[in-house]
Amino acid sequence: MNNKKFCTLLALLLIASGMKMQAQEFHRRASLRDPLFLDTTSGVFHEIYDFWQQYEYAQFLDYGQMSDPQYKPTNYDFWADSEIEDYGDPNSIIQCNLLPFYSYEEYFMGVIKRNDTLYELQTAFFDDFPSPKQLLGIFTIPLVRTTDGFKLVNKLTINKRSFCKKQIGWITYYYPSTYHFDEQAANTAVLRLSAFAEEFGVDGMEPVEYYLFENKTEMFHYFGIDGSCYDFYTAETVVPYGNSKIGKNKICYTKGGESKIHEFIHLMLKSVSNGQRFSWFEEGVCCYFGEHVLQTKEWHFDKLKVFLNDNPQIDLSVDLIEAYVDADGRFTHDSTQSVIKYKRPYSDVYSNYGYDIQMVICEMLYKKGGMDLVKRMLFETPNDKALYDSLEQLLGIKREQVNQVIKGYLEETY
Ligand SMILES: [Zn+2]
Repeated sequence: MNNKKFCTLLALLLIASGMKMQAQEFHRRASLRDPLFLDTTSGVFHEIYDFWQQYEYAQFLDYGQMSDPQYKPTNYDFWADSEIEDYGDPNSIIQCNLLPFYSYEEYFMGVIKRNDTLYELQTAFFDDFPSPKQLLGIFTIPLVRTTDGFKLVNKLTINKRSFCKKQIGWITYYYPSTYHFDEQAANTAVLRLSAFAEEFGVDGMEPVEYYLFENKTEMFHYFGIDGSCYDFYTAETVVPYGNSKIGKNKICYTKGGESKIHEFIHLMLKSVSNGQRFSWFEEGVCCYFGEHVLQTKEWHFDKLKVFLNDNPQIDLSVDLIEAYVDADGRFTHDSTQSVIKYKRPYSDVYSNYGYDIQMVICEMLYKKGGMDLVKRMLFETPNDKALYDSLEQLLGIKREQVNQVIKGYLEETY
């Protein structure tokens, strides 16, 4: 064989093996996809893709108007009527897990056909901070074909049909069949909640749906969110998590949530607030009377005391909500010195510095003037900036004394 022929043969062999590798890669990718994914050349695919883009644009327009209570969001038109009725704001689940998602980089994964009227779109969002191409989440959102075109439906609406159900008082608990529901703990929690409602002066509660899951991964899965960046704190640490913002009178919690009433108190406060937004102190009330991430108030106070003793440079007369980390790695109350805004300055994920300080304030008010004084703090503090004014008015503590009084109280009491 002469040189020329040999080279031609070699080139052909290389092309053939390259094509084979490409075909293998295509099959590998195809096998990763749901076999019901629609071909991207199909008309329905494009109809749904366009619909999704229009929905995102409506979200973008609405986002700028969010603070105006009179504004009627235009994106509601994209949802099935039953979703608006059931959730109030049908975007709640998507938004409380990723907001504003449409501003991130997106990879639209495809459309799955479940039957002639039910489809699902799947899409992923990325962020380039703090490192490039970080996956924020993969969302699966069902769509139903109606006479009025496609309409969005929350995945939870479809998934809850197969959940177990248990009614206690005005609360309906929903959980997957694999979840071990602690009925005794739930009964005790409902009694505590009723006692709190009575003391707070709330009579008659609207029905509440309480969703329970083994962990966040499972919760997100049933919400239609796979691969969320909010899933774990570290690969080893499963974080207890609850939320009362997933829709009208709906609460979700990870394992053990049936024994706690923190999220219920949020709902109760929402029902009596007449649309008023409370300050950060609301978290103090929910934590103090309803615990936080499955831990008691004593447990949180003890950790806060140790932290403040270890960091005497922190001045609570400057900031009652955040601690920061300065360039030397020391905690500080001074945001201008900060390189990191550090919401969890303790060594684990169970504490929230700002919540714990508000819990101390809640206890001081409650001991001095009972629930009436706690309620005054809630209703008479229009925003976080006014927290110091309320402390002076209700507890007689001037701003410059706050640091010493709170630290002294913790030292004496815990
Ligand atoms: Zn809370």
